[in-house]
Amino acid sequence: MLVDSHCHLIYPDFQKDIKDVLHRAKEAGVECMLTICARLSEFDSILDFVRTYDQLYGTVGVHPHDVKDYPELSTLDLKERVQKSSKIVGLGECGLDYYYEGYNAPLQKRILATHIEAGKKLDLPLIIHSREGEHDMIKLFDETDVSNNRTGKSPGVIHCFSGTKEFAYKALDRGFYISVSGIATFKKSDDLRAILKEIPLENLLVETDAPYLAPVPQRGKRNEPAFVVHTAKALAELKGISFKKVEQVTTQNFYKLFDKIPA
Ligand SMILES: [Zn+2]
Ligand SMILES: [Zn+2]
Repeated sequence: MLVDSHCHLIYPDFQKDIKDVLHRAKEAGVECMLTICARLSEFDSILDFVRTYDQLYGTVGVHPHDVKDYPELSTLDLKERVQKSSKIVGLGECGLDYYYEGYNAPLQKRILATHIEAGKKLDLPLIIHSREGEHDMIKLFDETDVSNNRTGKSPGVIHCFSGTKEFAYKALDRGFYISVSGIATFKKSDDLRAILKEIPLENLLVETDAPYLAPVPQRGKRNEPAFVVHTAKALAELKGISFKKVEQVTTQNFYKLFDKIPA
């Protein structure tokens, strides 16, 4: 069985056919999905979804693109939402994204630090979004002592990894998992594949980030959890191991990280 460690199922893209989407996931052997929160305004829908569908779990957090709407975010805001359901199992997605012009680095860092602090207080893993701000990210990880966020446990996952080799290893050193998305199947992703090839399977998760980033051979379509199979297959090929092994180990890693989910 596989899991989709990161998708956005509450988005309007799935409004018409969520039941079919979940059915196809099941048919494809995807037993569990984590539907990710990018803005607090999404949280009530996430609660609805995880209460309605057994195989779904959720998170709470503010994406770096959306920090301007939540400049006062506190650990209490996150805690109150986490306490609404035992199926809210992680914090994020949160992080740094300096890709688009006009980003507010100080605010992004402050909001990320709030998630890190909440992770420590609530013993919950972080779902980290990282684009371009790698140096600041590692600096913040160290300033907040994120490696020790959860005694003896991983502090979280770098989702949809597409960064540098240096960043990957610094994140691994600090106990993070690295999550592999459909980007790893794209033609232009040779550099990424070279990095992923070297990272032990014990440190990897798989995800879709649906509705975005559909893997080859579905590229260009709306992504959905069933397509995580293509990413897992690509990873197996890349590492020269069986699909079954990828399935087994990445799923085990997922339950180890998101330890509020009964495995
Ligand atoms: Zn993201
Ligand atoms: Zn996402």
